[in-house]
Amino acid sequence: MEKMIIVGTGCAGLTAAIYAARGNFAPLVIEGHEPGGQLSTTTLVENFPGFPNGIDGPDLIMNMKAQAERFGARFSYSTVTDFDPTPGKLRVKLDSEWTETQTLIIASGASAKWLGLPNEKGLIGHGLTSCATCDGAFYRNVPVAVVGGGDSACEEATFLTRFASQVYLIHRRDTFRASKIMADRALENPKVKPIWNSVPIEYLTDESGEVRGVKLRDTVTGAESELDVKCVFVAIGHNPNTAAFRDKLETDSDGYLVQRSGTSTNVPGVFATGDMQRGQSLIVWAIADGRSCARGVDAYLMGSSSLPAPVA
Ligand code: NAP
Repeated sequence: MEKMIIVGTGCAGLTAAIYAARGNFAPLVIEGHEPGGQLSTTTLVENFPGFPNGIDGPDLIMNMKAQAERFGARFSYSTVTDFDPTPGKLRVKLDSEWTETQTLIIASGASAKWLGLPNEKGLIGHGLTSCATCDGAFYRNVPVAVVGGGDSACEEATFLTRFASQVYLIHRRDTFRASKIMADRALENPKVKPIWNSVPIEYLTDESGEVRGVKLRDTVTGAESELDVKCVFVAIGHNPNTAAFRDKLETDSDGYLVQRSGTSTNVPGVFATGDMQRGQSLIVWAIADGRSCARGVDAYLMGSSSLPAPVA
């Protein structure tokens, strides 16, 4: 029987792990499919307080993990495949083995959305990707495209100018959703060329099955055109990683877990934090939520409905 299992090692899960470990709960932290969460595939984080020159996302995550381990958090490279929400007898299936736990913090984050075009899954890794930091360096001195108009798309486009000869930024409207600073940075880069009011409708491939371009449809005129690129980076947002918990915990229509009071879900002893309940990525929110979760679990285990003094 575990006292506390934390699912996810993004900044929400790791913050919960740091606070819980300092509270002497020795949490078992489950790495899952995407250890480190979205920060592990982010480039420079410039707005995290305390790092005047910025810090790379993976370094920030590694530091948080080391900090949690220092206070007694244990890490497991397994994945939650099922969940039993019986109150007082919570169980999670880690790969193929059930483990009982008194409390559960779900900080499993969110994964990249795809466009849903034919053959999309089969092209991932063959000129189609959702991760510029993972794959950008493979596309040196060739044209590439980024799809999306949010902060992720603008950030990825700017990053890709380090390698690519030209970065087309394909957006379905004529204004970006991204924050002004991110949008300006992308648009001011001479290698970035926005393609407004356009959506990809087909991936074009060469004889060896690699992406050679993308067919676009103009969302205003309906006109179709082709764009020659060696890689398409899809950056259109994320879906919550809550598959193992749906039907067992309350979610909204998009699958995000619903918090009832504080960070607790509708099942006693189960708490939710981070992107898979909020639907928006901000490191500082994830950190605040992670800490609230650890406090909520502390109160639950101590049999108190009110929050105790924070575990400092
Ligand atoms: P987002 O803000 O939801 O933006 C998604 C973009 O993709 C939107 O421009 C959307 O178009 C477009 N899109 C969605 N579905 C599409 C489809 N099927 N076909 C074509 N285009 C589609 O997602 P995000 O950029 O990943 O950002 C998520 C959160 O993370 C935001 O809160 C963002 O601020 C944050 N973030 C912050 C940073 C940073 O500060 N360094 C970096 C990355 C992300 P519409 O605009 O028309 O809806």
